[in-house]
Amino acid sequence: MVASSATPTHCPYCSMQCGMKLVVGAGGSSVERWPEFPTNKGGLCQKGWTAAELLGHHDRLTEPLVREWRGGELRPATWDEALTRVADELRDCQGRHGRAAVGVFGGGGLTNEKAYLLGKFARVGLGTSNIDYNGRFCMSSAATAANRAFGVDRGLPFPAEDIASAELVVLVGSNVAETMPPVMQYFEEQRARGGRLIVIDPRATPTARAASLHLQVTPGTDLALANGLFNLAVKEGLVDDNFVAARTTGFDAARRVAASYWPDRVERITGVPVEQLTVAASLLGEAASVMILTARGAEQHSKGTDTVLAFINLALALGQVGKPHSGYGALTGQGNGQGGREHGQKADQLPGYRRLDDPAARRHVAGVWGVDPDSLPGPGISAYEMLEAAGTDGGVRALLIMGSNVVVSAPNAGHIQERLDALDFLVVADLFLSETAERADVVLPAAQWAEEDGTMTNFEGRVILRRAAVDPPAGVCTDLHILTALAARLGRGDLFAFADAQSVFDELRRASSGGIADYNGITYERIAAENGVFWPCPDAAHPGTPRMFLDTFGTADGQARFYPVHHKASAEEPSDDYPLYLTTGRTAEHYQSGTQTRRVASLAAAEPAAFVEIHPDLAAVFAVADGDVVQVDTARGSVLARARLTKAIRSDTLFMAFHWPGKGRVNLVTNPALDPVSKMPEFKVCAARIAKATKCDDGS
Ligand code: SF4
Repeated sequence: MVASSATPTHCPYCSMQCGMKLVVGAGGSSVERWPEFPTNKGGLCQKGWTAAELLGHHDRLTEPLVREWRGGELRPATWDEALTRVADELRDCQGRHGRAAVGVFGGGGLTNEKAYLLGKFARVGLGTSNIDYNGRFCMSSAATAANRAFGVDRGLPFPAEDIASAELVVLVGSNVAETMPPVMQYFEEQRARGGRLIVIDPRATPTARAASLHLQVTPGTDLALANGLFNLAVKEGLVDDNFVAARTTGFDAARRVAASYWPDRVERITGVPVEQLTVAASLLGEAASVMILTARGAEQHSKGTDTVLAFINLALALGQVGKPHSGYGALTGQGNGQGGREHGQKADQLPGYRRLDDPAARRHVAGVWGVDPDSLPGPGISAYEMLEAAGTDGGVRALLIMGSNVVVSAPNAGHIQERLDALDFLVVADLFLSETAERADVVLPAAQWAEEDGTMTNFEGRVILRRAAVDPPAGVCTDLHILTALAARLGRGDLFAFADAQSVFDELRRASSGGIADYNGITYERIAAENGVFWPCPDAAHPGTPRMFLDTFGTADGQARFYPVHHKASAEEPSDDYPLYLTTGRTAEHYQSGTQTRRVASLAAAEPAAFVEIHPDLAAVFAVADGDVVQVDTARGSVLARARLTKAIRSDTLFMAFHWPGKGRVNLVTNPALDPVSKMPEFKVCAARIAKATKCDDGS
């Protein structure tokens, strides 16, 4: 099937899931605006505009690859040979080591249908408890915190358009001007209406430079800052006593903790001057509507859950949750970061955001799947824990990875690479021969965004539809086909008899029915007719839920919860040996591990290789000039990158983006210390040192 006209679809990259039209012609495919789609109103960033280059790219995998023995070469194979080899290896592995010896690793970019079917495949096709996904590295702390405080986790519990009407927005650890530029239209509208913006970030990013107030916080101290603002809110009489009494519990315990975060102390911890804290408190007090939005800068810490809870405490104390144009939200990162965490590819979860250890949830989902509830395995271990133990006694011995390039994106990536090499068997399904696929025993070429139908759930909780607009290249299969074909070879084909993506979605709807993330009333037809439907949407007559918490929260008693949370040091603070902070993030040009964007010519040309941002004062100490090759060391190893001197970064902090493999792969040196609850690794801060080097990764 090839569409001859423009097909409304969505960008393959980030969680904004911008609407676009894909035009397919004789000379190839191109992107056009889709102004009617409400989230981005036609706006696209350079990644979206160039996304069509990935279709028909000469690097695409177009046939399965197999390796006869470890150390041997990957060679082409038929689909039947490759799938039969995978099924045999997985079955043999389970025969030798037990069902849990096979692991499944998914991705936050997979469609809802894929995430759902991957979870079902793990629990029903393989009977393993070990499934998790790379969203654990992305949004898990915000999700954990929201579940605790509100009893439900939906990144933004309101549409993005509400940003434009908030009198004050507080952005914590988010550089939306570069990572999701089309959302800036709402910030610009907000500013035009007289609204204010506070940005909390160790870097003076383009987003921070557009703010009314930039708090250039020391890495790893956002929690203390939030508690300090809570302290000032109490002192200045900004607490909404009526809201706190009527709609929350736990205020006193949280207030008592915040009482010890007086401004001088907060300045010492965070580096943010008392005067700026006072200005921030004034802005909070003056605004009738306040929106607090966190992102990975606040969340990717070993205390990420507590940090988000601290900001939720502040929002609750101000009475700014569950009101129009206000509230707390997390800006989800990956394309389906939201839906991907709702339908069963998390270690502890069943579809509909149900818990795997809940007997009623097990009964419901097992009923939809037509299996005995007792046959469903229990919760498994989290993403990093699964990778870290791979190939060991007691760890997974065979692994199926779908839509994730962990060799570049996992923390302490050199160690993870060794663990993958220690597996008995590795199979990877991907579009390209990623750095992870290169190490696999079997590589399965998968279809991509515009080549298959599927739904995604964007950062607003809006379920959207990507329609297939072009055929996949000959020799390529969809992930859904791969899973159903493997299930058939494992003797469970009767439970995976799906004609297409829509039939998977229809089963997902039933499995989610009655759950927290209830999709039962959402259909492909409704999504197309309504430009997306917000969950929860329990039945066909329900309009969907653009705004949550207006009357009640998702907790058992309907009340939001304060949590008393203390600042603690990062797992690794600067020391004599490693005197600097190293923090990581994204660039405007690239997305995640760069498997896709590094193959788009204009994006690769604009940002071709790893760099390290260094303040000129710090660079002078090491006689480093702009463009010099610098070696960055941490306790886990070294990376090489070109110095980019900028006053936008603190003089005690280095910044590197995580899109590149090779010697510039910053995740070789990031710290895998985990948040004890969310199991989020501490990507955003570790201790580092620099030295001038002589050669970069490319030999120059
Ligand atoms: Fe794509 Fe995100 Fe850019 Fe929108 S903001 S065009 S979804 S990468």
